[in-house]
Amino acid sequence: LAPDYIRAIAPYQGGKPISELAREMGLEESSIVKLASNENPVGLSPKARAAMLQAMDELTRYPDGNGFELKAKIAQKFGVPAAGIVLGNGSNDILELAARTFLTADDSVVYAQYSFAVYPLVTQAVGAQGIEVKAVEYGHDLNAMLEAIQPNTKLVFIANPNNPTGTMCRPGDIVEFLENCPTNVLVLIDEAYTEYLPAEKQCDTIGLMKRFPNLIVSRTLSKAYGLAGLRVGFGLCAPEVADLMNRVRQPFNVNSLAQAAACAALDDSEFLTETVRINNEGMKQITDAFIRLGVSFIPSFGNFVTFHVGDGPALNRFMLERGVIIRPLASYGMRDSLRVSIGLPAENARFIEVLEQALA
Ligand code: PMP
Repeated sequence: LAPDYIRAIAPYQGGKPISELAREMGLEESSIVKLASNENPVGLSPKARAAMLQAMDELTRYPDGNGFELKAKIAQKFGVPAAGIVLGNGSNDILELAARTFLTADDSVVYAQYSFAVYPLVTQAVGAQGIEVKAVEYGHDLNAMLEAIQPNTKLVFIANPNNPTGTMCRPGDIVEFLENCPTNVLVLIDEAYTEYLPAEKQCDTIGLMKRFPNLIVSRTLSKAYGLAGLRVGFGLCAPEVADLMNRVRQPFNVNSLAQAAACAALDDSEFLTETVRINNEGMKQITDAFIRLGVSFIPSFGNFVTFHVGDGPALNRFMLERGVIIRPLASYGMRDSLRVSIGLPAENARFIEVLEQALA
């Protein structure tokens, strides 16, 4: 029914809905704490909510297929030309568009071990070959990634910060990578968590785009902007690259409510500042507890942290039975590790309480 390369794709393991888990475990739905998908615990930006309510009146019409207003907002905020923007149904859509636009089954793609699961997925879905480069201390080994590039390599995925490990690449190392990367290889730097990085650790990828026309930067509204359920992401790149991706893109891939909310959320700097403050405090709350309990973890630059226990799936089960949902990482080849997203103080406290029970 399908080519071999499609059959070879491992099915995506989605979590159960909270209501279903509550029923199965005999727990109150309201007692369940979900810290599994690196979502924003703060809630919806009031500005985004108001914009969506207004956009409801237009729902009988198709969305703007070119996302004129949203692109204008992004162009103004990031100082890029609107012609160099591709809108996506989440940034996953941008990753997939890059694969569908630029790869054939004869090509290869380079990405890191312990990096985002969607890179191998979109690579395999077009029949291209994935080249996974061994990580160093759970982070990208950019030199080894450079060396792994083959004559048929068309695309490199770099996640900065990386999910699920939370590691970051130093700005100087990224520049060096781009300087040494063949210009016919596209480099997609996935910055889904960039808002959580302190300013001094941020790479000026948007500035680098003028020097490196093979650079694509992807961003999302799902994390720090708190709109995961609406599915909005975008790619920033040279207009020639955006033009090609926009030819492949489905015209109505970002719905009207999402476009309206995204415009408002990008303007809500107060919400963003509060999100980062709550994340920093929650990160300290959880990592302080790891230190106190003698649990080793990977210092993280995102809104989540990965920690090591003997048997990851067993601890995951223990947590689920007590209504705490976190992310086991066995499918990433990290059986001894689990990832917890940073929540609100009370959610973090509940996670810490159950972790303590498990270790007792
Ligand atoms: N990139 C990375 C590194 C991620 O962790 C995620 C979300 N898990 C995404 C991209 C995709 O997010 P979205 O499609 O919601 O923008």
